[in-house]
Amino acid sequence: MIFDPKTFKQHFPLFEQPENRRLVYLDNAATTQKPRPVIDAIRDFYLCSNANTHRSSHRLARRATEMVERVRSQSAAFLHAASAREIVFCRGATEALNLLANSLCSELRAGDEIVISSVEHHANIVPWQMMAQRFQLKLRYVPHTAGIPQFDRLGEVLGERTRIVSLSGGSNALGLRPDLEAIARQLRGRNLHWIVDGAQLAAHERVDVQKVGCDFFVCSAHKFYGPSGIGLLYGRESLLEAMPPWQGGGEMIAEVDLYNSRFAGLPHKFEAGTSSLAAIAGLGAALDFLAVQDRAAMAAHEQQLLQWLHRELAAMPGLQLISQPQHNLGIVAFAPATGSAADLMHWLDERDIAVRVGHHCAQPLIRAAGVAATVRASLAAYNTWENVQLFVEALREYLVETATETENLAAAP
Ligand code: PMP
Repeated sequence: MIFDPKTFKQHFPLFEQPENRRLVYLDNAATTQKPRPVIDAIRDFYLCSNANTHRSSHRLARRATEMVERVRSQSAAFLHAASAREIVFCRGATEALNLLANSLCSELRAGDEIVISSVEHHANIVPWQMMAQRFQLKLRYVPHTAGIPQFDRLGEVLGERTRIVSLSGGSNALGLRPDLEAIARQLRGRNLHWIVDGAQLAAHERVDVQKVGCDFFVCSAHKFYGPSGIGLLYGRESLLEAMPPWQGGGEMIAEVDLYNSRFAGLPHKFEAGTSSLAAIAGLGAALDFLAVQDRAAMAAHEQQLLQWLHRELAAMPGLQLISQPQHNLGIVAFAPATGSAADLMHWLDERDIAVRVGHHCAQPLIRAAGVAATVRASLAAYNTWENVQLFVEALREYLVETATETENLAAAP
């Protein structure tokens, strides 16, 4: 089937608003736009069925409970988990990683080791640093060159004391998509827990957690056309069962006494308090929406745009390209050879082209690349050929203009 980005784009009403008609939105790694069914589901929840969940309560509360559990089953199918009991709703990938860090590390012994990589988002660095300090654990990094992890050398940092390996399934700063099968092979048979940060991956590929073979997988709905404020933590049932809860409160208990409590079963023991119910309704609509799309064709289209962008940008003398076109989920990252990345971003913004500038919550990586900040253009399936052509033309124009300015300055008496 031929994928038509223009038809696909019609599902996204933001682009139809008069002020956004010319918008070239290339900030999809930060968040994607929402299709109409997702917006409608959130509105409908508040309009028709708003109530807090509780199985044994009134009609609306029962309906809300059924909706949450239905979306949990959909989410299990989305990630190909063995059971809905393996799906915990969180605020997003960040909260899921904090849950894992807090729960898993509280069971470790001083001197145990956690392995992460230099390409991780801060959400997959900072929680481990905090736990390492609290429980005297050791943080180790996959060997890297100029910040790019060499995952084939993962074995060099695995030891007797390695208990957790938490690695990106796709980098938000570079797009780099590690070979998860090769990582699985290196981890096989070891007494440790493998976490995949799939915040970027889930937006571009069909995920099969059983095939990947990881113990835990985290992602955020807002990166795959769903609402913000809701994300998924997948965990193997036996592991979740054995883990202590992270947060305490309502919904996660079976019985509360003055000094002790018994916790609810899976997955509820990890879901203290009222969840983002409207966001869960929106997530359900996003999963329905994705289920009827040709995801392979969407990814193939994104890859065509990506390869073309890399070729065009590589040929521009005034740019330092940081990302690589191979094993890339859909990101071009670069820095202007002269001038600041922020100036370039503002210049593009004035022309209705939305890209992101900065360290992209990956400061260690950006520092290792030897630049202060990068400009990042990140793709989604609704990006058209016209979008990327306008972006490239605008970049060319900017480089000519800044080169002329530099020449004029040099020639000035
Ligand atoms: N990991 C990666 C790779 C990400 O790209 C992001 C979001 N930029 C996160 C984790 C954190 O996701 P969230 O902010 O939705 O919790």
